[in-house]
Amino acid sequence: MDVEKKVAETIKKYKLLKKSDKVVVALSGGKDSTSVLYILKKLGYDVYGLMIDLYLGKWSDVHRENMTRFCGENEIPLVVVDLKKEIGQGICFVKAVLAKKKGLTGCTVCGIVKKWILNRWARKMGADVIVTGHNLDDEAQNVLMNYLKGNVLLGAGMGPATGNGSGEGFVQRVKPLFFVPEAEVLKYSRERKFDILYDRCPCAFGTYRVDTREWMVENMSDEDKLKDVEGLMDSVKGVGVDVRDVLKCEVCGEVSRGKICKACEIFGCI
Ligand code: SF4
Ligand code: ZN
Repeated sequence: MDVEKKVAETIKKYKLLKKSDKVVVALSGGKDSTSVLYILKKLGYDVYGLMIDLYLGKWSDVHRENMTRFCGENEIPLVVVDLKKEIGQGICFVKAVLAKKKGLTGCTVCGIVKKWILNRWARKMGADVIVTGHNLDDEAQNVLMNYLKGNVLLGAGMGPATGNGSGEGFVQRVKPLFFVPEAEVLKYSRERKFDILYDRCPCAFGTYRVDTREWMVENMSDEDKLKDVEGLMDSVKGVGVDVRDVLKCEVCGEVSRGKICKACEIFGCI
């Protein structure tokens, strides 16, 4: 089945989107988010791009220019959030300080900050739903990483629709590429000659996820990845899912699992 059909079927089967929804697509500038934006526009959804300028040097500059051009050509409104204006620092500084002060390594810090900004800005834009470009390989990596951490139940809430949609101020996040292997997205993007960067983020090295990804490329077929992801979704559905109330962060007012959200814990350190 081709990529566009898989996306349409996933949306239908899991009721991810409605044609009346205001759909904000989180854009990194890479092949996955660019492809999903393009496909949703083609399928007739009311799409908007939302990009965060992380200040990762030239890499961020080129991604921002590419997405500005891509959205212009495809008549898609684009909002670019400037991280320095939002939190006063670029992501490299934040990561470096946190690594030193809290021993947090890899992309964890970046992921928390991005999620915080996406929810905040998607809400400001009046979004009904946030779309991310996560593909089957990303999900299979999660399954494997959780297994290696000794806690497969960390993946109990996994699926094409993620997060707890019940909290006030929370914008539901969905993943229409959930069942599409990375190689198929890459082929789709190249065939359409999307004028984008295919390089990995310059900070994506030496992390658990990168190591897992490299192992998977050598040892797992796309069928294996699908079996793993579907198998976990079936076997641990709902088991151990965090059912605590969603609170409002006492500092920033964003949705939070505790009194203070993870992002504000980070901001308190920089
Ligand atoms: Fe952030 Fe890591 Fe992704 Fe780079 S690879 S954008 S540092 S989460
Ligand atoms: Zn907060």
